[in-house]
Amino acid sequence: MKDEKYLFVVSGPSGTGKDTIVAKLLENHPEIEHTVSATTRAMRPGEREGINYHYMQKADFESRLAAGEIVEHTCYCGNYYGTLRSEIERHMQAHIPVILVIEVEGAGNIKRMYPGATTIFVLPPDMEELERRLRCRGSEDEATIQKRLKRAGEEIANSVAYDEHLVNVEVASCAESLYSIIQFKLSHAKEE
Ligand code: 5GP
Repeated sequence: MKDEKYLFVVSGPSGTGKDTIVAKLLENHPEIEHTVSATTRAMRPGEREGINYHYMQKADFESRLAAGEIVEHTCYCGNYYGTLRSEIERHMQAHIPVILVIEVEGAGNIKRMYPGATTIFVLPPDMEELERRLRCRGSEDEATIQKRLKRAGEEIANSVAYDEHLVNVEVASCAESLYSIIQFKLSHAKEE
């Protein structure tokens, strides 16, 4: 249990800016790392293999799942996403604080498996702003935007179960609030 305090799970609706917040946090605090998930979705412009995700074919993902290499996974808007067991164990063993940026179903599974992990939900200021941010990204077609907006409503409704909540009004201050949560947990979590 004591190694689990190094696990921090960040979720939030697509377009809420959670990846930008986490990127800012990691830039300012390089002692904190993030896990690289596996996904079957296509690479977006600007993304890189092994940095944003490990991109793989469905068959490869499914064989890793069967081999127990993926500790939790979900099917999100038609694609598989999953956390590699090796990523979690490596960080816990080395006592390196690590952030998993995953959706709510995965976050719930991680919390059940590792109760000492801290779950943090990032909210947009409001739904209009969320839709604006999602459209500004320009990387998804209208059908995908609609799917992601519907999913956003469901995720927000389920967010009460999270340990902590942040509202992303401005990236830098939200990243520092996230850092405060991490610092607090690392210094106050019970050594069980
Ligand atoms: P995106 O396609 O925008 O990169 O990610 C879609 C959603 O999948 C986001 O909410 C992201 O946090 C989530 N996600 C990314 N990696 C994982 C993972 O390993 N497991 C789970 N459960 N969700 C993930």
